[in-house]
Parts: sequence; structure tokens; C-alpha cells
Amino acid sequence: MLTTISGFDRIGEENAFAVLAKANALAAGGMDVINLGIGQPDFPTPPHIVEAAVKALRDGHHGYTPAPGIPALREAVAADMTMRTGVDTSPDNILIVPGGKVTMYMAIGMFGEPGVEILYPDPGFPIYRSMIEFTGATPVPLPIREENGFAFSPADVAERITEKTRLVIINSPANPTGGVSTPDDVRALARILEVHPNVAVMSDEIYSRMTYDGQEHLSLGSFPELRDRLILLDGFSKTYAMTGWRLGWSLWPDALFDKARKLAVNAWSCVNAPAQYAGIAALTGPQDAADDMVSAFDDRRKAVTAALGALPGVTCAVPKGAFYAFPNISATGWKAKPLADALLAETGVALIGGPDFGTLGEGYVRLSYAAAKDRILEGVGRMGDFLASNPPR
Ligand code: PLP
Repeated sequence: MLTTISGFDRIGEENAFAVLAKANALAAGGMDVINLGIGQPDFPTPPHIVEAAVKALRDGHHGYTPAPGIPALREAVAADMTMRTGVDTSPDNILIVPGGKVTMYMAIGMFGEPGVEILYPDPGFPIYRSMIEFTGATPVPLPIREENGFAFSPADVAERITEKTRLVIINSPANPTGGVSTPDDVRALARILEVHPNVAVMSDEIYSRMTYDGQEHLSLGSFPELRDRLILLDGFSKTYAMTGWRLGWSLWPDALFDKARKLAVNAWSCVNAPAQYAGIAALTGPQDAADDMVSAFDDRRKAVTAALGALPGVTCAVPKGAFYAFPNISATGWKAKPLADALLAETGVALIGGPDFGTLGEGYVRLSYAAAKDRILEGVGRMGDFLASNPPR
């Protein structure tokens, strides 16, 4: 009998990948599946980005790169961050990583151990809690409530910080709710963190370029006074439709950068070179394709929330960011996961039950509207027909 560390008895995963596999299997068996489960843009990576990777390979960039990333990409990220936050950002604090998720793995791994507490959003991206559990730290849920626009409440953060708190995880715009924190709430959070100088914060801003209705995204990177303990997670997956490239970046405080770099050297050496050249093209090249994607998401967002809100027993807040709708289904009488399972098996509509994002996700399902508009509306139509003819089980 092999014995591994106890963390593996507690580690979770991301059910969106299991639903994707099930949906693909049903589609392979001939079912007309509408996949509103997985969170990835349905657009191709813009051609100039693809070309930059191809050119990099043709030019012979097929070897190892420096572990923190090629200098030109770190400079491009730092310039982008300086521009977006108004705070001068050095490439020396930028680490290029294989996908946005890796930053949460590193940051939670750096702070989590038995006896300490880590605050994380509930409902929220499932890997936060999974990784916290893996390290043996105590996960402290930060409620993300519909009545607060699906944004965290600064008062909730303040109440939950104890002398055991080492890390606070914030995500805005948010998965799975599409909520966006108001600039006032972000400023209030910064003030709270100022009085807790030993608490680090990881701000997951992977959807930062996707906001609607003129909603401002205020980055936690905009507060120079937090730069000594802010880990900012961002990347290319969502903004540039590059989920399969596995390319992300993070900003680290001076005191943590070398630890992060060493982790990178131990685990993956460097991110694949052509993807990094593609990243330079993404950040420094034309932004029209990325902007067009946001416009298309905006159009679908309005359509999907209106259609969901018209279903019996369903209400749907209009999300201000990311590309997810998080309708409240509690008045249908269905629990979220049985509904998600039945919808996939019986109607071919793949979506994710809210409890896959935390206990406070009960009563909700998540639909990704990163799919063609007619297919999204067809999916919501099938959900309506199903609810009309199937009492809760
Ligand atoms: N953070 C959030 C909130 C996400 O929703 C996702 C992906 O769904 C990630 C991070 C991970 O992004 P990546 O695919 O670049 O690892």
C-alpha cells in the first residue's frame, strides 16, 4: 500500500472538466449537445497571435527560456500593468507562468499550512478551496451574495480576519457569478488590508478586461501601499481566447518573487517558448479582436439573462463582468446539481450546478455564454421545456 501525504485525501477538483468530458461523450454518441459548461471563449485565438508563435518556432525559439519568462514578455506585461493600474510596475516582479491557475497553486502553497486561515470567495473558483484544503490550512468562506451584486462585502472581509489569517483571495470580475466589485468596495478592502500588514492578498483578475455597462474594474494593483503583499493573478486564456496555450502571468512582491521563481524552476523550468512570443504579440499588437469578443459576450449576456429570467421559477441578475450567468433557480423547487445532471442527460444542455463552486452556490446554476447566441438561446429554451414538464426530483 503506497502512502502519500494527507493533502491528497482532501484535494478537490473542477467539475467543469468532468461535465465537459460527459458532454463530449454524449455528443460522440450522437446527442445534440449544447455546451454551456466550460468557461472558455468559443472564438479562435486572433491570427496575429498564432502567427507570432509559428514565427518563433521557425526562427528557432524552441529551447528553454529564463525561468521567470523571456524579458520582452515580462516587460510587455509590466508596461501593460503600469498602464492599467497607474502604478509603476517593474518587469522584475512579473513571473510568466503556464496558465492563470498556476498562480493560485503557488500562492496558496506558499501560505497554507495547518493552523493558518485563508479567506476565499464562496461561491468561487473551486480550485481556491481545493488548494487550501490540500495545504491543510483552514478555508474561511467569504460569502458572495446575490443581494450585494455578487461581489464580496468589505465588512465580511474585516469580520473574518483573525490573527491566524495569512492570505485573502479576491476575484473580480468573478467566476461563477459574473459579479464585479465596485471601486468603492475595492478601496474599502485596501483600507482594511492596510491595518493588517501581515495578511497577504491574492487578487484573481483574469477577467479584468471583460466588464459591461461601463462598469469600472479597479485593480488591487492600483494601490502602491499593497504592493508589498499583493499577488496579482492574470493571464491570456480568457482575454485572447488562449485557454489551451497555457500562458499566464503574476505580479509578486519583492519579498516573494524569488520564492516563486524557485518554485517555477523546480516544477516547470519555463513556459514553452513559442507561447511566450505569442503573448508578446497579444499584449503589444492590435486589441480589436479582444474588444470584438467582449462586444459579442455583451450581446449574448443581455440575451441569455432576458431568456433565463422569463423561465418559470427562475430569476437572473444581469452580470457586469466575465462571461457567466448565474441564475437563481430556487423557486423551481429543484436542487442545482440534480437539475444540472438531468438537463445534460435528458436535454443535452451542459451547465454547472452552483454547489460545485461552494456551499453558498446552492439554488443557482452557472451558464457560460461563451457559445454562439442561437445555441445559448436554444439551450435556455430546452431548459424551459424541461422545467415545464418535469417536477423536481
Ligand atoms: N481564475 C478564474 C477565476 C478562472 O475562472 C480561471 C479559469 O476558468 C482561471 C483563474 C484559470 O485560468 P487558466 O485557464 O489561465 O489557468
